[in-house]
Amino acid sequence: MNLSYWEYKTWLSNIDFTIVGSGIVGLNCALNLREKFPKAKILILEKGFLPQGASTKNAGFACFGSISEVLSDLKVLSEQQVQKLVQKRWNGIQLLRKNLGDSYIDFQNHGGHEVFTDNQAELFESCLNNQSVINELLQPVFGKAPFVKLENHFNFKQVQNQYITNTFESQIDTGKMMHRLLHLVQNGTISILNAINVTEYSEGDDVVHVKTDKFEFATKKLIVTTNGFASKLLNNSSIKPARAQVLITKPIPKLHIKGTFHLDEGYYYFRNIENRILLGGGRNLDFEAEETTSFGETKLIQNKLVQLLTETILPETSFEIEHRWSGIMGVGSNKEPIVKQVSNNVYCGVRLGGMGIAIGSAISKEITDLL
Ligand SMILES: Cc1cc2nc3c(=O)[nH]c(=O)nc-3n(C[C@H](O)[C@H](O)[C@H](O)COP(=O)(O)OP(=O)(O)OC[C@H]3O[C@@H](n4cnc5c(N)ncnc54)[C@H](O)[C@@H]3O)c2cc1C
Repeated sequence: MNLSYWEYKTWLSNIDFTIVGSGIVGLNCALNLREKFPKAKILILEKGFLPQGASTKNAGFACFGSISEVLSDLKVLSEQQVQKLVQKRWNGIQLLRKNLGDSYIDFQNHGGHEVFTDNQAELFESCLNNQSVINELLQPVFGKAPFVKLENHFNFKQVQNQYITNTFESQIDTGKMMHRLLHLVQNGTISILNAINVTEYSEGDDVVHVKTDKFEFATKKLIVTTNGFASKLLNNSSIKPARAQVLITKPIPKLHIKGTFHLDEGYYYFRNIENRILLGGGRNLDFEAEETTSFGETKLIQNKLVQLLTETILPETSFEIEHRWSGIMGVGSNKEPIVKQVSNNVYCGVRLGGMGIAIGSAISKEITDLL
């Protein structure tokens, strides 16, 4: 299909910045660019009819790392590096709240509990033994010791009798966050074209030629924020896709569970959303099959999620599953996202891992600072 003169002139000519991907990073990046360059022509291209990666699919934890995760990080990073990592997440959440407003994202602070299974007595002991050292390390970040020990007051089964809780961990409504971001972007007179797949680009003299599945055009700067889908476009094999499967129950009358929860070293995570339980995880059951950019659910993982609901999370409550879905994360051999200038006029901010809510706004700020 040939585009008309009007279509080219209005949407696809004289573009200053083209952003590929309308997830948390792409949308925040567009807003930052609008602030920095009020007159620039900014275009976002998104392959999905909605953002279709991780940002509209996630669990909505505003988290900073459970105690076992911090302990495990301390095995490979220095104390200073771990403190910096957690500080980055904390700052990122404050930036997200400042940019979007708590009421627009339904920010609620109910704490984030790490729940240890019956089989994890040793890990639980080790976390308890290190609790005060880690609190001391992270007190400067939060202004107060973050981790406390709480009794198993939600009556989960087949778990240790206590949780280790980060009292600062919170939850947001992922849909509201993305809706708000899209609203702000559209108000900032930034065009978003959906259902456009960017297939390749090449650098010209002071412009980047961009090919999509529907048309070709030129832009002064190209910014790739395609997270788990980025390896092909950026020709960078260190970015791996990681599918994450989720389910949500129908409303449960008088649901007694409130907060965010990390189970089995974070391989499973669950939370209440109003009076439902959202539960995800299980990639560790088949890492190979879940290293994919294809959406989909598998029996193996979905059955395990239902088993956890039945035996551990809601053992005495009847429930029904209302929806199941998956999202695609971007991961790599370490937790650091890739934020860099790729070539003369091409930049990227990708590989956000499982922490995009906390770090997405900050990463987009880093990209804008490069420009
Ligand atoms: C199930 C699940 C649960 C999660 N839970 C949490 C959580 O509780 N807390 C947390 O902090 N993080 C969580 N995450 C991770 C978090 O969602 C991500 O880190 C974050 O959304 C990444 O944002 P992004 O903008 O980098 O990427 P994405 O949201 O993946 O956005 C990339 C966009 O690029 C588009 N795209 C890709 N390729 C192309 C192309 N060639 N052309 C055009 N468009 C393209 C995609 O359609 C997509 O919309 C979770 C992720 C998943 C999947």
